[in-house]
Amino acid sequence: MLTKFHLREIAIFLPVFLPFLILANCNKEEALDYEKARRRMVENQLKARGVKDKKVLEAMGKVPRHLFVPEDIRHLAYADRPLPIGEGQTISQPYIVALMTECLSLKGNEKVLEIGTGSGYQAAVLAELVDSIFTIEIIEDLAMRARKTLSKVGYTNVFVKVGDGYFGWPEHAPFDGIIVTCAPESIPQPLIDQLSEGGRMVIPVGDYYQMLKLILKENGRLIEKEIIPVLFVPMKGEIRKGD
Ligand code: SAH
Repeated sequence: MLTKFHLREIAIFLPVFLPFLILANCNKEEALDYEKARRRMVENQLKARGVKDKKVLEAMGKVPRHLFVPEDIRHLAYADRPLPIGEGQTISQPYIVALMTECLSLKGNEKVLEIGTGSGYQAAVLAELVDSIFTIEIIEDLAMRARKTLSKVGYTNVFVKVGDGYFGWPEHAPFDGIIVTCAPESIPQPLIDQLSEGGRMVIPVGDYYQMLKLILKENGRLIEKEIIPVLFVPMKGEIRKGD
């Protein structure tokens, strides 16, 4: 039974805690909405277009993409399109992230290098699938933001470096997989050198016309496959001899 004392306590504490209760409930509803949107994305954008790798689909269904995009466009996070992430850069369309990840044929114990950290989303998807990710971003602000987001979401196996990814990360080479999310005019030699024997590299190549390529290193030789035409931001950096 409620006594006068109880009623007085409720009268004092309810106004204090009610906003928190409402907020907690809203956050829960919001999280559920994002989860639903993510499930729809996996069905309608990925499976429908032929992405089959179960682990890739699972990872894409798990990573909270909305936390990797700017707050004012969070409602668009699961849309079938790339989105601006500031500094004139973009987070790739979900299908392209899934397709590139699938191209790497990951089994779980690999070490992967990414060039173009951007928001950190692609690195997070990879972090769900393999041991360790080394990722390089040339714009310092983006690298810092990505580092913060990745640690907030709980990834401890992603290492972000500020620098020109053209030169790779020789201290941690060789890499079983290399994924490049900005487009150079030709495949950087340092990245070829840092790809392990039996390794795979997925990379958009070209300027006005870009082709997504899959490079396999087998018995010291390179096998090149063309995947699909794509449109990525160009690979920045100082003008390099021979480019
Ligand atoms: N993978 C990102 C998308 C990146 S967009 C994501 O999941 O959000 C491409 C990124 O490549 C941009 O952030 C751009 O600043 C970066 N970039 C361009 N040239 C680069 C270079 N030479 N080295 C490293 N990063 C580069």
